[in-house]
Amino acid sequence: MRRIIGIQLHHSVNLDDASRYGVNMLSALEGALKRTGDPEIQALIDQLQPLVRQIGVARTAAGLRLQLHHRDPDFKRYVDGELPWPDELEEGFVPRCTCGDRCLFHDVGRGTQDDCNCDRVCGQHGEAEAA
Ligand SMILES: [Zn+2]
Ligand SMILES: [Zn+2]
Repeated sequence: MRRIIGIQLHHSVNLDDASRYGVNMLSALEGALKRTGDPEIQALIDQLQPLVRQIGVARTAAGLRLQLHHRDPDFKRYVDGELPWPDELEEGFVPRCTCGDRCLFHDVGRGTQDDCNCDRVCGQHGEAEAA
């Protein structure tokens, strides 16, 4: 059984995580402050608050860029991991391994013959291991 069709995640997903963790951190500190009234914890909150806001701004900006990429002719190739996202580093980019991808048409039974990716060569492992 082959794995589910994978996608190359955009870094806005990482920033979503960072933002969520930041908000969690804030509310944990606020919980501690409520119980202790400790001015040191208040000081941590005061430092963290603007940082969490800035992370939120960075996340929103990355999300907007991702939306713009939806219109790119190469959008599907970014999602498939054939090309790096245009707003990410090209250096060190490794095409996503597609060896384990299922075929939308033959394995999943959706789409049409045009969606078949059975013959697609893995960008990471090439012809040799594609079979
Ligand atoms: Zn591969
Ligand atoms: Zn197929």
